[in-house]
Formats: sequence, structure tokens, C-alpha cells
Amino acid sequence: MSTTETAKPELLLAHHLKKLKLPTFLSEYDKIARLCAQDGVDHPRYLLRLAELELIERERRMVERRIRAARFPATKSLDSFDFKAIPTLNKMLVIELARCDYVERRENIIALGPSGTGKTHIALGLGLAACQRGMTVGFATAAGLVNQLIEARDERRLLRLQSGLGKLKLLIVDELGYVPLSPVGAELLFEVFSQRYERGSTIVTSNLPFEEWTSVFGSERLTGALLDRLTHHVHILEMNSDSYRLKQSKSRRHKSSRSEPKPGNETVDPETGEVTT
Ligand code: ADP
Ligand code: MG
Repeated sequence: MSTTETAKPELLLAHHLKKLKLPTFLSEYDKIARLCAQDGVDHPRYLLRLAELELIERERRMVERRIRAARFPATKSLDSFDFKAIPTLNKMLVIELARCDYVERRENIIALGPSGTGKTHIALGLGLAACQRGMTVGFATAAGLVNQLIEARDERRLLRLQSGLGKLKLLIVDELGYVPLSPVGAELLFEVFSQRYERGSTIVTSNLPFEEWTSVFGSERLTGALLDRLTHHVHILEMNSDSYRLKQSKSRRHKSSRSEPKPGNETVDPETGEVTT
């Protein structure tokens, strides 16, 4: 056989596999063929192995895409969460929620508690779990989302943004309550929650108890209507504890104060009041 004859089917095969979008078939078929020949594996099983590899890779790429699209500010998983540090949090409920059945049921989650108690960490962990199950997820702070909405409205692409937000299986709105919203901002955020009602799941984290949400949205009528929708099918995560960050830095300082104190060189975390030297 001439070299052109042997090269030809491989080139054609590469072309076809690319066109069929089977990159793993293409990169692995030669290696797997040699392994199968060594082990005396027949053709159906050889093809089965390749098909399985293709599926595994495809799923991995899809999860990666979901994670990128979610725009998480950091990757945190529930594995690194220390549940003992926050006894008010129902660990079994969080573990159950990580299975993401609530997303299929279009239920919501609200995590409430002071700053530094792990609300964002839990929201990120649940978001990651949803991505790993192939669900579409979006993450934004309440203030960031309102800015996006106002910008989209000014640029006449509000409907497109709203429709995109409405299609997400899970939307995470972090830090509701740190900044009071303008009347327009409150109305736009209300519309997002309203459009998602019974169509998709929403996770909200807030440092404010429900009674104080009116101070964020300005209007009692709007807050009532919003809470009505958001809490119709909801899991509440009570995260009342001392700040995890603060506790950690206290124990760090406790250890270092026994070595050498350095007065007059502190910075204060504006969010937690945590003092670091
Ligand atoms: P919050 O959103 O309630 O202000 P964060 O989730 O941002 O708090 O937590 C502050 C920091 O402390 C983060 O780095 C987070 O990963 C960490 N943290 C908080 N609680 C825990 C915990 N129970 N176990 C592990 N890390 C935690
Ligand atoms: Mg937070």
C-alpha cells in the first residue's frame, strides 16, 4: 500500500469526526484501538469505549461552560464549608438542597444572617452543585444586577436581558440589603423575581430580616408583593452566628499576640469591622 492510500482514510475520518463534533473519538480512537487489540476486545466494545469517553468529555465541557456562564465571583464548594461553625444552619437541609431537586420543583432559597456567616459561600456551593448537574445558573449581587438592568434599559436591551434571566434554571441574587435601591432599581428587581415566579429557582442572600426589606425596596406594597412570590415555595437558611471571618482572624491574632504585637498598623474591613494588622 502506498503512503497516500494509508493516509487518506485517516484524513477523511478526521474530517468527518470534526464535522460530527466528536473530538474525543478523533483524539482517542488510535490509542483505544491499540489497547483493545492488546486486550482482545471486539469491535462493538471498542466503539462503546469511545462513545463513553466522548459522552464523559462532553458532559465535562458542558459543566465547565455552565460554571463560566454563571459568573461566580469565586469557586466555593460545600465540601469546604464547616457546618460546625454555624449551628443555626440545618446541615441536612443544605445537603438535601445540594441534590438540586428544589430547582426542578422551582422552589426558592433565602439565606439570612449577619455579614461573614457564610451566606455567599453556601449560595456559591449550591450554584456549583446546580452547574454540575448541567443546569443553567446565574450569579449577581443585588446591586450589580440592578445596575445591569438599568444599563440594559438605557441601551434598549432590557427585554433581552429579562428574557435571559427568566430562562435560567437558577438565579442567585447575593447581598440584598447592603445598598438601598432607587425606585426604578427596586421596580426592575421586582420584575425579575416576578418573572421567575414558579418558572425557575432563585436564591437570595440578605443580612436583613424580612421586616426590614421595605428599607431596601422603598415601597411597602412592592416589598409585600415580592415577599409573597419569593416565599411561596421557599427554604429558609438561618445563618445567625458570629462572623466566621472575624472568628478566624481573632484566633489568628490570639496566636500571634503571644509572639509579637504590632500596634498602630491596623486596617479595618469595612464589611465586618474585622481589624487586621
Ligand atoms: P457572608 O456572605 O455571610 O458575608 P461569606 O460566605 O462571604 O459570608 O463568608 C466569609 C468568608 O468566610 C468566606 O471566605 C467564606 O468562604 C468563609 N466562611 C464563612 N463561613 C464558613 C464556614 N462555616 N466554613 C468555611 N468557610 C466559611
Ligand atoms: Mg456575602
